[in-house]
Formats: sequence, C-alpha cells, structure tokens
Amino acid sequence: MDSKLFLYNTLTRRKEEFVPINAEHVGMYVCGPTVYGDPHLGHARPAVTFDLMFRYLKALGYKVRYVRNITDVGHLEHDADEGEDKIAKKARLEQLEPMEVAHYYTERYHRAMDELNVLTPSIEPHASGHIIEQIEFVKKIFDAGYAYESNGSVYFDAEKYNKDYHYGKLSGRNLDDIVENTRNLDGQDDKKHSYDFALWKKASAEHIMRWPSPWSEGFPGWHMECSAMGCKYLGEQFDIHGGGMDLMFPHHECEIAQATAALGKDSARYWVHNNMITIEGRKMGKSYGNFITLEEMFGGTHPLLNQAYSPMTVRFFVLQAHYRSTMDFSNDALLAAEKGYDRLMKGVETLGKLKASATSTVDVKELEKRCQDAMNDDLNSPMVISALFDWVRLINQIAEGQQTISAEDLDELRRVVTLYVFDVLGLRNEKQEGAGGNNMVPQLVDMLLAIRQEAKANKDWATSDKIRNSLTEIGIRVKDRKDGVDWEIE
Ligand code: ZN
Repeated sequence: MDSKLFLYNTLTRRKEEFVPINAEHVGMYVCGPTVYGDPHLGHARPAVTFDLMFRYLKALGYKVRYVRNITDVGHLEHDADEGEDKIAKKARLEQLEPMEVAHYYTERYHRAMDELNVLTPSIEPHASGHIIEQIEFVKKIFDAGYAYESNGSVYFDAEKYNKDYHYGKLSGRNLDDIVENTRNLDGQDDKKHSYDFALWKKASAEHIMRWPSPWSEGFPGWHMECSAMGCKYLGEQFDIHGGGMDLMFPHHECEIAQATAALGKDSARYWVHNNMITIEGRKMGKSYGNFITLEEMFGGTHPLLNQAYSPMTVRFFVLQAHYRSTMDFSNDALLAAEKGYDRLMKGVETLGKLKASATSTVDVKELEKRCQDAMNDDLNSPMVISALFDWVRLINQIAEGQQTISAEDLDELRRVVTLYVFDVLGLRNEKQEGAGGNNMVPQLVDMLLAIRQEAKANKDWATSDKIRNSLTEIGIRVKDRKDGVDWEIE
C-alpha cells in the first residue's frame, strides 16, 4: 500500500507526516493499565485507539514492535508522589499478596481486551520486573546532575532541568503554572520544590513492595517505569508514544524530562493522545455512580444500562468517533452503534453471496481510496466507516439487481472490505462466531445446503427437511427461492 500517513503530534500541535526512524521497524510505546481493579470503559478507548494504529501500521507493511506496559508497582493514590500504592492498598483490603492482585487484574484485563478484539502487544513488560533498569535510569539522571537525594528518596530537579530545557513543553505549561497548580500534600518536605517529582521513594515501615537501591530500600516513582522500559525495548529514541490525554501531565511530561535529562534527547518522536470518555455528559468516576466496567457493559448489569452491549458494539462505538474528539456514552448512542454495526455486518454477509455479472456499474477503486485517505488523515476511523456504509448501500443495490459488478471487481471489493472491516478496524462478525469464535459458519452452512439440494433432487424429503429443521433449531433460517436457496442468522 503506498501512502503518506499523517499523525497529530501533541508535542508540535500539528499533523505531521509519519516518517519512522527505521523504516524496517516501527517502535510504539503505549502506557498500559495499573492493575488494581476491573477493566472499565476508560480502558476501552486507548486500547482500541492504539490497536487501530497498530493494525494500520501493519497494513501499511511496517514491522511494528508495540510495547504496552503493566503498572504493578509505584502508582500511588494521588498519581503524584504521595499516598498508598494502589495495588498494595487493594492487597491490604483483600488480604492478598500484591502480586496476586496484579496477576488477577492483569488476567481480567487480557480477557476484556480479547473480547474487544484488541491484538496483544509485541511485549508487555511489568514495572515490578524492571526494577534494576529503573534504578540504572535514576542513576543516569543523577549523574547528569538533574536529581537530588533527600532522606533516602531521589527527586527530579525540575528547576535545574527547566533552565536547560523546557519542563512542560508537551502540555504547554511553564514552571510557574505548575507551581500554582500543584497540590500541597503531606510529606513533601523532602522535596526542594513542590513541582519536583519522585524518581525513587524510600519505603515507609508499613510499605510492603520494596527493593534495595543505592539510596534506600524503596520503590521507583511511577513515571520511571515507562522511561526505563521504553528505552530497554525500543531504544533511546523511538517513533510513537501513546496514551490517554489524562496522562499528558504529569506522567508523559515527566517521562520526557527524565529521558532528556538522562540521555540528552527526547525519547519519542510522535506523541499521540486519545481523548477521554464521558458518561451522559459527566466524567466517569466511582463517586458519580457512573463507573461502568466492561463486564457490566457486556452483560448489561449496570443500573445505568438499559440492555447489554456486545464487545463489538462497544468497539464500533469507539471507532465511530475520531480518537481526538470527545465521546459520550449513553444508551441512545450505544443503540445507534449497535444498529450501525449490524448494518455493516449484514452488508458483509450480502457481499459474500453476491453473484458477478459481465460488467460493473460501480467503481470499486473508490472505496479503497476513501478508506486509505481517511486512515492517512490521522487515523480517521469515522470517515472509513462512512465510506463502508456508502458501499453497503451499493452492495444491497447489486444484490437487488439495480447495479452490477464484474467477477474481477467483486474479488477486489471483497479484499478491500475484509482489509478495512476486519484487519484495520478490527471488527468481528459476532453472530457468525458461535462458541468457538471462528468464521467457518458460512462455509459449513453452504455445505449443508448443498447436501440438502442433492437430497431434494433425489426426492429424499426426509433428509432435506431434517437439514432445514436442524438449521432452524440453531438459529439459521433457510429461505427457498426461485433461483436457489438463501439463509440468514436470526
Ligand atoms: Zn507511562
């Protein structure tokens, strides 16, 4: 596929042509979940957004190394340097080992991602498995003179750094804004300034997740894991760093500062951020009663939901909005997504049954060009969907005999639809999957119906009826028509 992909770079605040550092191999790092609770709607959007990016880069022919981390240590309750470790807290409340908590929720996250048809990344490193790398990274910052030790903890010297570089360049802040907006929390006495952030924290007596280091027995600051693991698996500089907009400050800002301080250059070339999800206009939060887990979504068990919404409905819903625009979950919007997804899948099924004519009255080249142009324009999935919908209309017209398509064009149309619907948008046809999750249903049904036609030709009505009734029983309706036989899943 020849094309120019443009991505919106948060760092430069404009769309830039994507030119990888090494054209043979694209490096992509995305901040993954902190595994202390059930995966929820807030996880679905970044997961689907960067899955779309991963899939499209592969469709463009790139080899991609996609690293998405698991945060299982060091993410403190206030997202800053204070409070109890989120995983240790859950472990204390449930009387479990912290690693039991991390393992349990990592598994739950993986299961939810599978349901959403989110591809597994190339590498999924755990923060707790990279303590040595994090200590080494802190040492580099220390040696470069941008860190100081205080009572066994190590802090990043933001003021010193800001004299040489710009602390706040990603989020468009300067140090003075940051001072005003930094909450005054307990235990900040160790720091020179409120805007300094922890690279290594000395563990208090009751803190259970702790490792030895040159400074104290303790644990790494939350921002350190992504710098250390990104550098380890993708090199000192890599192509794309992604995550939700809520991570832009302080997390990504601190990552940039850490990498620049330690290595003298920014770690990532393109910073890509997805926008957030609101629920009926409000931010999602436990205190608002609108915190919906993916399991509740798929089962329809949350009081705010009128019904269950399938994983593909949720995925389709996420893809219907551009990743940088806001997105509001409501029953109406989800119902519309469910209908849209259904219409698209019916179109794909009809396409599978189309018969070719001698000539075409439709221009099949148009679809691929529209899909490609849309994806190249900063992964504009809603435009891809709208092109596909236009083609569902044309497919129906061909099926009804109002338009015709040649054999060659039909092959081409099937290739492009498969590429964009299944490979790039990453949708699955849920109705055709059954328990095994495979897509052999159409072939099997056609095979049975061919046997039934033979039985009918031999006037073996018992076998013919048996096949028809058995299919009806499992929800496949057979329709005999003058020119043959048709079927659909009810
Ligand atoms: Zn991160």
